[in-house]
Amino acid sequence: MDIIEIRHYLHQHPELSGQETNTMQTIADFLKPLKPDILETHVAGCNGLTAVFYGENRNKSVAFRADIDALPIEEDADLQYKSYNKGVAHKCGHDGHTAILLDFARKIAFKSRPFNIILLFQPEEETGYGAKKMLQSETLRRLKPDAIFGLHNIPGAPLGDIVIKYDTFAAASTGFIIKLHGRQAHAAYPETGINPGMAVAEIIAETQKIHSEATVFRQTTLIYTRIGEIAFGTSAGDAEIMLTLRSFTNAGMKELIKTVENIAAEKAKKYNLRVGFDFKDSFNALENNDRYVDIIKSSAEKLNYGVDIITEPFRWSEDFADYLLQYNGAFFGIGSGVDHAGLHHPDYDFPDEIITVGSSMFEEICKLFYD
Ligand SMILES: [Zn+2]
Ligand SMILES: [Zn+2]
Repeated sequence: MDIIEIRHYLHQHPELSGQETNTMQTIADFLKPLKPDILETHVAGCNGLTAVFYGENRNKSVAFRADIDALPIEEDADLQYKSYNKGVAHKCGHDGHTAILLDFARKIAFKSRPFNIILLFQPEEETGYGAKKMLQSETLRRLKPDAIFGLHNIPGAPLGDIVIKYDTFAAASTGFIIKLHGRQAHAAYPETGINPGMAVAEIIAETQKIHSEATVFRQTTLIYTRIGEIAFGTSAGDAEIMLTLRSFTNAGMKELIKTVENIAAEKAKKYNLRVGFDFKDSFNALENNDRYVDIIKSSAEKLNYGVDIITEPFRWSEDFADYLLQYNGAFFGIGSGVDHAGLHHPDYDFPDEIITVGSSMFEEICKLFYD
């Protein structure tokens, strides 16, 4: 089957994070005839797969990762291979990333290899849980890779250009929930209760100030607030504030969380409230190893691809970050076209032209890795 047909098949059958069972099966069916030495499915109880093609030196391994999950977005694009799954679509191009890794598998399967090549097909990227689960795979625990590489398509960058960023590639982010508990009272006698309203107002004002006054990038985006219940006879007794925090470094994220926690704790104390914190959808900063970014850059130059070296990290997050907390490696982008619809937009579709750009890059990275 043509690799573009595979991409279109994946596009027609998108599955949400945590539900990628058919996608896993499709990938396994494609890989089996390529006779990988190891094919591990249902990695750590999730829908992840690893495939290993052994090399002459069994003590050296390089890993490549693709994410495989889709998004809860209704497809707007008028495509021949439109999503069959209502309300779910591949709007981040993970169908394309999967096709790239499958194409790469086909290229290396029946050639001699100087070292082991590990392919990671990772589910649950959009929710930030997948990489952590893949890191528990038998394969990675046994064959600790000497390096790991991954990529993402980048709308807005010229089609087929390799987008390179030294140091941080993508930001750390986390959903941060502040819960304030006071006491309800009759609305006619609010002074007999503890209303969290003033604390909420001050916490919002001060956390937004962090963002506007920051000299290094620190973002505190207000997402949601709730104070009390819709009942005009009752003075509010509790409240919730939800923020999304972002930083370009993991150390910066730790500091930012501490700062927001301190503000909330101080206001809670001032207004006699109890306070609790919760986190959701947390991603580490994707901090590249520069030596491996150089390998990516040389590979792109060898292949005569355009190279865009960017200086500002992407503000979005990528759970590939978790692999780089354990292994050396780097992540890069491939341009999806300057006027291409953005990631997560209803009319976005992965450009098929860059499938071979991605698989050729992985091949070239392999060649350069031990030069
Ligand atoms: Zn995405
Ligand atoms: Zn993505």
